[in-house]
Amino acid sequence: MNKKLVYLFNEGDANMREVLGGKGANLAEMTKLGLPVPQGFIVSTTACNEYYEHDEKLSEDVILQIKDNMRELENITKKNFNSTNNPLLVSVRSGARASMPGMMDTILNLGLNDEVAKEIAKDNSRLAYDSYRRLIQMFADVVKGIEKKHFDVDIETLKKKYSVESDHDFSVEQLIELVEKHKDTYLREVGKDFPQDPEVQLLEAIESVFKSWNNSRAVYYRRMNHIPDSWGTAVTIQEMVFGNRGDNCATGVAFSRNPATGENELYGEFLYNAQGEDVVAGTHTPLPMIELKDTMPEQYQEFIDHSKMLEKHYHDMQDMEFTIDNDKLFILQTRSGKRTAQAAVKIANDLVREGIITEQEAIDSIDVRIIDGLLHPQFDPEAVKEVEPIATGLPASPGAASGVIAFSASKAVEYFDKGKPVILVRMETSPEDIEGMHISEGILTARGGMTSHAAVVARGMGKSCIVGSGDLNIKEDTMIINKKTYHEGDQISIDGGTGFVYEGRIPTQSVTISEDFDNLLTWSDDIATLDVYTNADSAEEIQTAIDFGAKGVGLVRTEHMFFEADRIRAVREMILSTTPLQREVALKKILPTQRSDFEKIFRTLKDKSVTVRYLDPPLHEFMPTTTQDIEELAEIMNMSVPEIRDVIRSLHEFNPMMGHRGCRLAITYPEIALMQTRALIEAAINVTKELGDVTLQPEIMIPLVGDVSEFNFLASRIKNLADELIEESGVDINYKVGTMIELPRACILAGEIAKEADFLSFGTNDLTQMTYGFSRDDAATFLKSYYEIGIYDNDPFATLDKNGVGSLIKYAIQEARNVKPDIKIGVCGEHGGDPDSIDFFKQLGMNYVSCSPYRVPIARLSLARD
Ligand code: PEP
Ligand code: MG
Repeated sequence: MNKKLVYLFNEGDANMREVLGGKGANLAEMTKLGLPVPQGFIVSTTACNEYYEHDEKLSEDVILQIKDNMRELENITKKNFNSTNNPLLVSVRSGARASMPGMMDTILNLGLNDEVAKEIAKDNSRLAYDSYRRLIQMFADVVKGIEKKHFDVDIETLKKKYSVESDHDFSVEQLIELVEKHKDTYLREVGKDFPQDPEVQLLEAIESVFKSWNNSRAVYYRRMNHIPDSWGTAVTIQEMVFGNRGDNCATGVAFSRNPATGENELYGEFLYNAQGEDVVAGTHTPLPMIELKDTMPEQYQEFIDHSKMLEKHYHDMQDMEFTIDNDKLFILQTRSGKRTAQAAVKIANDLVREGIITEQEAIDSIDVRIIDGLLHPQFDPEAVKEVEPIATGLPASPGAASGVIAFSASKAVEYFDKGKPVILVRMETSPEDIEGMHISEGILTARGGMTSHAAVVARGMGKSCIVGSGDLNIKEDTMIINKKTYHEGDQISIDGGTGFVYEGRIPTQSVTISEDFDNLLTWSDDIATLDVYTNADSAEEIQTAIDFGAKGVGLVRTEHMFFEADRIRAVREMILSTTPLQREVALKKILPTQRSDFEKIFRTLKDKSVTVRYLDPPLHEFMPTTTQDIEELAEIMNMSVPEIRDVIRSLHEFNPMMGHRGCRLAITYPEIALMQTRALIEAAINVTKELGDVTLQPEIMIPLVGDVSEFNFLASRIKNLADELIEESGVDINYKVGTMIELPRACILAGEIAKEADFLSFGTNDLTQMTYGFSRDDAATFLKSYYEIGIYDNDPFATLDKNGVGSLIKYAIQEARNVKPDIKIGVCGEHGGDPDSIDFFKQLGMNYVSCSPYRVPIARLSLARD
């Protein structure tokens, strides 16, 4: 027997989404449940994939199966397709496994032609010609790609000619005239007559659904939502019922709960004497569902009953389409309803309270990606609908922001001081921009990737940020986007969740975290087997993270503690020192600020553990660039400007990310690591004395280790000094010394390293960079082409590459656990806050993930997902 490619509704169920698509599987399920569903059949996703394998042609086999199933449908409905004897009309709709806007949606009334229309007209002439004119317009639109507006001209012409308000008011004669006009328009635009053969209509419609799987909108949506191209779409063919047969007819769309607020109330819209497209197309003003309660109370109650039953059955809020044909209610579709983040949280809680779902199901029902909407301001959805983006970039840190453009950090501060919200627009950011970033509403850069300086710092601050927007052409104090010039002080808006840049100001809305949201997070913590730590560099950020539920700090980037103007000078002094004495002077300046920052951190964290990563500045991020900075430094260091410039030149690296950074810096200048040890241990001693009964948990982390000898060289010096300080103080400090695993070599040799280190933390930003061999700051520019061609599906700096980088991590964990089964292992790269990556980390037997404070709730939920 040939492969089954087409299924009747009564041959499937909800578990067959992969083959039948979401729409088809749910129609089959509702048929099984005995709900009033007009019957039909589904051309499967397998048929779609075969279509692409056969050079975009429907095979003989699938055509045969479609025809056979149509005969079956004729038997079931006791009507006839392609016949004037009791004609059968059908709808044709697309239905992928996941609901996908952007694909071909619906053609109604398929099967009508001149003769069939005449036959139906014997019984109901308005229905016949109203349906026929709709079919021509929809068929032309979705199958032939002819814009609706060409047909709207016909409608407008006749409305004027007969002084008719709405197309619902046309007389039958006028509808017949409209059909003729539409046929002419079809011929003019398509170059062929509207097909009179219903079988041709059907096969062309099915083919166009398959084709729409690969239109650019659908491909874009799939990429955004990580939907594989290989899924394909199914096509549903369903007997038509008519909401436009007369005044005892209606059609509408309704949610079993309010999708905006989550309230437990039927929420939807309908129209009397209309077809589904009228409700969704916005061409007619629909009525609220509650009105149906008065005019058709029985059907209203029946609909409520079905909707409650479907909610219970599917364990989720439902979005349903219905039609009332001659007083009889039909359900045409059901699916899990899309909802706002607030509604999602409320519905999940209510369904648990009502005993319909478990806590685990509640957690699984939340689309973790939309949770960002609960933690950051968002654009007013109505306002943002009205505007088109002027540019796009990488969505580096979520949240919506509006403000005036500032091209430098100093200009940003100037606007801020005048009380103006600012968007800082830069080629890329550097540590000098930190203050400007801090006071800005949002940050937009032309260069950089998801782990570049701007992205990492903005995420830490919880600020909206878009990076790598190649559409921006930034000159000194102007920016050109698509030939239009923008100046400092012009208003723009950015959405760091989507990567869209808009002109002008768009109002934003902020949202507060509800008790319901807290419930979900608490349930998650009970289920999760890994902890969530945070990456944070100041006591304030750490407090935010603790408020969001972080159990500790997985990464303090100590170089980030020196971004402020007076501190960066001392760090530069240290980097540019040419003699040990100079370096010692610079380090002495750094020590007290470093110690007092650590004290604040210990006071905030108390007995929660904190992993302090020793200095890892890619040197280029800290080099002075402006003449003013260089002159200042020359004076402080008692050197001439040319001398300073000489040192800068001598430190220049062609590849700073693979250069003198990480532990390499401390190996050549151990005094840096020793200063940091002194600052950390003295801070711990001071705070322990101050707080009394508390056991601080400092963890010293050595970055970018590639060989165990590098680790040993530094760890022995660090421990000698730390032990000496502790002994002198008489206070017991229980510190650990561990390392980051962020080089492929460190993964391969993780067993050797684990023997010596107290803990391991995967720095997946560098590990991704070093495994692929492309720069985390520059890769965004060429990766775009990789997504377009389909070489990669998504950004490996945002979502972990499980096959490559993931295999290295897996191997390293095995090796480490072999030698030290209980060694604490975590991840502190940006992937630690990405839901897909977290799904992978969960399987590897790590102890924690660490992410920026605003991603802590998402990580908590992600860790608990089934
Ligand atoms: C990493 O490389 O993943 C990491 C956390 O360190 P950084 O981003 O500071 O290089
Ligand atoms: Mg790193």
